[in-house]
Amino acid sequence: MRVQLTADQQRAWERFAAFADDDLVPYAGGWDRAQELPRAVVHRLAEAGHLGAVIPAEYGGAGLDAISFGLLHEEVGRACSSVRSLLTVHGMVSYALLRWGRPEQRARWLPELARGACLGAFAVTEPGAGSDLAGLSAEARSVPGGYALDGHKHWITFGQYADLFLVFARLAGRPAAFLVERQRSGLTVVPQTGALGTRASMLAELRLEDCRVPAENLVGRPGFGLSAVAASALELGRYSVAWGCVGLAEACVRASLAYADTREQFGQPLRRHQLVQRMLADMVTGTSAARLLCQQAGWLRESGDPASVHATWLAKYFASTAAVRAADDAVQIHGSRGIGDAYPVQRYLRDAKVMEIIEGSTQLQQITIAESAYQLRPRSAGDAQPRQGAEGLIR
Ligand SMILES: Cc1cc2nc3c(=O)[nH]c(=O)nc-3n(C[C@H](O)[C@H](O)[C@H](O)COP(=O)(O)OP(=O)(O)OC[C@H]3O[C@@H](n4cnc5c(N)ncnc54)[C@H](O)[C@@H]3O)c2cc1C
Repeated sequence: MRVQLTADQQRAWERFAAFADDDLVPYAGGWDRAQELPRAVVHRLAEAGHLGAVIPAEYGGAGLDAISFGLLHEEVGRACSSVRSLLTVHGMVSYALLRWGRPEQRARWLPELARGACLGAFAVTEPGAGSDLAGLSAEARSVPGGYALDGHKHWITFGQYADLFLVFARLAGRPAAFLVERQRSGLTVVPQTGALGTRASMLAELRLEDCRVPAENLVGRPGFGLSAVAASALELGRYSVAWGCVGLAEACVRASLAYADTREQFGQPLRRHQLVQRMLADMVTGTSAARLLCQQAGWLRESGDPASVHATWLAKYFASTAAVRAADDAVQIHGSRGIGDAYPVQRYLRDAKVMEIIEGSTQLQQITIAESAYQLRPRSAGDAQPRQGAEGLIR
């Protein structure tokens, strides 16, 4: 496994860190309290080229390699998980189009997505379809010139701002993916507020009622909406969230080191108390281990190795649980101040908890990792088959 960054990756990391420190860190707490991300931040992300991270240069994107893409998500995740979640879902829609869009769809949408003229959101979750997407019940039917969509989606990150939704629905019973532009009649976007974490991620419900889209808005082939289009987007999303969790854990480390250095009790700084040192040590170790797993997934992803899928499960599972532990300890180290909003650690804890639910919950990751271990080890270790949802996709 490689752990050393190239000179270009190192420079990119420094640029991403400076962006996070200057444009995000000072304001993230305010956005969380307001439950709103100002549009100006989206414009700043666009100006900096971050919305085109996954899109190749031929479409006007940054075309980042997998490691640099990860470093961007780490740095933004260190500053603000809501902004990182925007990069995640926008990247997922971009990537799905890149992988599965027809040439005309790529030419039509990728340049706009790359420069942030169009924001993408990913809409698969429904009240009856969460971890198990076999429960997908939104329906599409063929009508002259295209399709009519009916259904209800919820928890759609940046749904309040998105211009273009990648919506999953059944066409003649088969899962399919459709592009739905925000202005289509029959689409109603309802803001969702009051979430525990990533409170500035502009969540929304989508109501689709006889929402008409033209035939050219179908992405990929009917029947492959979940197993191909959604699966590859979720795979990128998981990779992005894993790196975001490394950033979140790193933020916990930095906040805790600073606080434990200055706060004195029993005649010495907290950092001298051994039980506090244990928390600091676990936090630092967990963050480093999570970063290494993300780097491993990144190098495999960059080289096109199919093992990157498994490596990404490990990275997301470990990094999200490490972020929750780090944030929990960070609040503990801050004592009563950890509960208040003068320090960012309570936000980190709320945001970290979300990471255990999205892009494959902790339990779904555990099931997938445990069962795939039987496939990856010699047959004598067991012959269990990997769990598959009815559509071949669980998350
Ligand atoms: C902040 C936020 C942003 C989101 N953004 C988006 C978005 O942009 N687009 C989108 O489509 N969706 C989005 N989601 C939805 C998210 O992907 C789902 O919440 C997630 O897939 C889990 O589904 P669920 O909430 O219905 O939980 P459920 O699937 O009902 O699971 C509930 C609990 O049961 C556990 N569980 C389920 N099945 C099993 C099992 N077989 N074995 C053991 N335990 C199990 C789960 O781990 C979980 O703890 C978002 C959610 C949140 C909270």
